[in-house]
Amino acid sequence: MSQPAPESATPPAASDAPRPSGVRAAVRAVPAYPYTPTDVPVKLDQNENPYDFPAELKAEALRRMAARPWNRYPDLHADHLRAAIARFEDWPEAGVVVTPGSNVLIKLLTELGGIGQTVLTTDPTFGVYTLEASLLDARLVQLPLNGDFSLPVAALKEALARETPGVFAIAQPHAPSGHVDAEQAVRDLVETAEAHGWVTVLDEAYHQYSGTDYRDLVRAHPNTLSLRTFSKAWGLAGLRLGYMLAGAELAEQQQKLVPAFNVNVLTQAALEVALEHPGYVQERVQEGVRERERVLAALEGHPTLRALPSRSNHFLIQTPDPQAAYRHLLSRGISVRAQGNTHLLRGCLRIGIGTPAENDALIETLNALG
Ligand SMILES: *Cc1c(COP(=O)(O)O)cnc(C)c1O
Repeated sequence: MSQPAPESATPPAASDAPRPSGVRAAVRAVPAYPYTPTDVPVKLDQNENPYDFPAELKAEALRRMAARPWNRYPDLHADHLRAAIARFEDWPEAGVVVTPGSNVLIKLLTELGGIGQTVLTTDPTFGVYTLEASLLDARLVQLPLNGDFSLPVAALKEALARETPGVFAIAQPHAPSGHVDAEQAVRDLVETAEAHGWVTVLDEAYHQYSGTDYRDLVRAHPNTLSLRTFSKAWGLAGLRLGYMLAGAELAEQQQKLVPAFNVNVLTQAALEVALEHPGYVQERVQEGVRERERVLAALEGHPTLRALPSRSNHFLIQTPDPQAAYRHLLSRGISVRAQGNTHLLRGCLRIGIGTPAENDALIETLNALG
């Protein structure tokens, strides 16, 4: 039975002011994550490994998943998996933190040292650093890279000395260019950052493809960490697992921000299998590097587009009309990633390295672009 409205009810006040919603202004101001999924045969838009986890390992992982109880919470901090990563990386277990993808760690690192403080990075940079800084209302400082995508060392050192500390984030190889800096430049920056009290994130998501490895530098610097992932060289992006290698003290602080039980039992079981059989990775990385060099060489001397050198599993092309190139590739069943239209990325598309057959299709399609 419905109640009659009380006679004295006042009509809602007409007002142009937006209703308060409780959503922070910083969140409202950030556009949704800029990614358009495509359903095409040749997918080169997310820098994934073109090969799935080897079939026999997948079968073993499924057996192990089935043997685990699903009614019980996983390990609080995935201790068994963390121990396996520690053995693989020759790193103390107390310095390993795992999350579902290293993107989550970037958010948590922004919580650790960015909120109410500063996030310092380059322009261009990996979009998640700037996205999280914006969402979490950190003060974001970006310094332009040099024209060849190398780090502006002197300007960064000046900023590290000048700005209120927080998180200093760079990727080696750089994303999205695949550029690798001189080790001395990175060392110089890490030392300056440590001296001024920054947490330094060395994002090594693609280090297998460049053959670089900053574990020794991290070991010697308590406020510096290496960020790593199973999403690229390991070919396990679908399982979502990233980790950081740091000193025990920094890891302990970071671990406080990781939600409890955040890596599920299925991912933990599969990753343990991968870490027991890491041999397949090296072969694939070698092919990826060979294919990258073959593709870059095949695009040399192209009449209109320029392929930029890279040491990662992806590279940039620069063209007079990137939208036309994007559409042309898509019409031939090849997806690549559009880039912002600013600074060094003007006219650029980012392209992942695929299987040899996929790369043949890419080369042929780009050459037909004229
Ligand atoms: C792909 C990528 C990652 C990995 O992200 P996940 O969340 O682990 O899949 C991290 N950093 C950079 C620069 C990347 O390109």
